[in-house]
Amino acid sequence: MKCSCEQKMKLELRTVMYTRSVMIRHVPVLVCDYCLTYELIPSMRPDLKKCVDLLGPDPSINSFSLTEYHELARLIYEVLAEGDYSEDSLKQILEHEIQERINLLLDLYGMAESLQDQAWVSDLRLRLSQLSVILPEMNVFHADV
Ligand SMILES: [Zn+2]
Repeated sequence: MKCSCEQKMKLELRTVMYTRSVMIRHVPVLVCDYCLTYELIPSMRPDLKKCVDLLGPDPSINSFSLTEYHELARLIYEVLAEGDYSEDSLKQILEHEIQERINLLLDLYGMAESLQDQAWVSDLRLRLSQLSVILPEMNVFHADV
């Protein structure tokens, strides 16, 4: 994905002021180094809102890491922390890691269902939906598409 200035945008994790009182750390965003702007990955928007809604109308905490609530943010955090990628390989690595994580969660899902553990099933369902929401948008990570 390109910025309006035609430069490549990079995937990064940033701290985002969601509202005047709520700050979210480790939010995946697309950054343009040239004009110093960033934007949220579009499919993350509704999920951010859901996480903030969990805090309630009068949150006692006003800052949290998205990695604690969101499978995709956690996965991107882990991949970036690993540091073992080049600008060009990041997309492939992420696609691979996301697919692996989905497979793992699907295995657990089968297990949770056979145990009829409803709480676990719905937790896994949420985590799967958080991961798969990005797949149609994976091409945003690719600079030249
Ligand atoms: Zn730009």
